[in-house]
Amino acid sequence: MIGFELSKEQNKLVKEIRGLVQGEIAPRSLEMDRRGDESFDWSLVNILARHNLTCPIIPQKFGGLGLNYLTTALVLEEIAKGCAGLSAVINTNMHAVSPILAVSSSNQQETFLPIMAGTKPGLASFALTEPNAGSDVSSISTLAEIDNNGYLIHGVKDYVLNASVASFFVIFTTISPFQGRASLRAFIVPSSTPGLSIGRTRRKAGIRYSNTSEVILNHVRITNDGVLGGDSSGSGYLILTQALDRGRALVGAASVGIAQAAYELTLNMRVPEYNLENLLLNTKQLLLNWQIWQQKLSRPAS
Ligand SMILES: Cc1cc2nc3c(=O)[nH]c(=O)nc-3n(C[C@H](O)[C@H](O)[C@H](O)COP(=O)(O)OP(=O)(O)OC[C@H]3O[C@@H](n4cnc5c(N)ncnc54)[C@H](O)[C@@H]3O)c2cc1C
Repeated sequence: MIGFELSKEQNKLVKEIRGLVQGEIAPRSLEMDRRGDESFDWSLVNILARHNLTCPIIPQKFGGLGLNYLTTALVLEEIAKGCAGLSAVINTNMHAVSPILAVSSSNQQETFLPIMAGTKPGLASFALTEPNAGSDVSSISTLAEIDNNGYLIHGVKDYVLNASVASFFVIFTTISPFQGRASLRAFIVPSSTPGLSIGRTRRKAGIRYSNTSEVILNHVRITNDGVLGGDSSGSGYLILTQALDRGRALVGAASVGIAQAAYELTLNMRVPEYNLENLLLNTKQLLLNWQIWQQKLSRPAS
């Protein structure tokens, strides 16, 4: 029979992370949200880094915790309860690292995975979206032209989380515009690569602890060592869809955490005090309101 119970180790880890998040991260999340997304404050990332939690999926041989996806989802749920923006930052690390774990060469793994592991607060980005390519990835126009021993990449990515603070980017390009998905290729590009710069920062209504910016690629030269998953036709699309599938589960877990925190916040909200006159005037309205709230709260609870 399939069991859905968490193991003792998973329950212990969740308890520890809940203590860490509620004790050190949640009390600062509102302040971070108010600061806005223009400049990045490393302090919340640093708290997770102290516990090797900025990318907990990285295998132990590269210095990570080596957690599986289910346990990582539990971790993200707890982080999201304390700060939704921080969960977006960590989820983006997962998006960038998952294709590296799945298809990269041992040389690429040895170069990039240790950056995200241990007590270093390493961050990475996953750059797919473009001004004219969102859901429809076959419209990607960032071009990787074959050049001596590698590629020259030219184009603009937008809405890229962690962009201004990432150590490296996993970037999706086409090698032949108008040929759709089969022409997609994925590259690992260190942020210090000449020609790569950060454009405008997007201002958001939520998850404001995270940075979301444009990435401008102006003839960025990448050797063949930077190609992810080999050069065969269609490889980029497969890498992308598999990374998105894995990522969606983790985004889902963070969303559960955000919903739960919102529910608990509402449940513990102080009821305003009314004087008698106001109370009589507003009784009907109050009761109505309470019924609405009761219904609203009972749905997510059940
Ligand atoms: C806060 C934030 C962070 C982000 N972080 C990243 C990041 O780190 N890296 C990155 O690459 N991107 C990132 N994105 C971009 C995100 O992935 C895109 O917004 C998403 O892919 C949707 O693309 P779009 O906004 O262009 O919308 P569109 O693709 O234009 O879609 C608009 C609407 O049309 C619907 N639609 C689209 N196509 C169809 C269809 N064929 N049939 C029916 N309905 C359809 C969509 O569901 C949607 O409701 C981020 C976006 C935001 C807002």
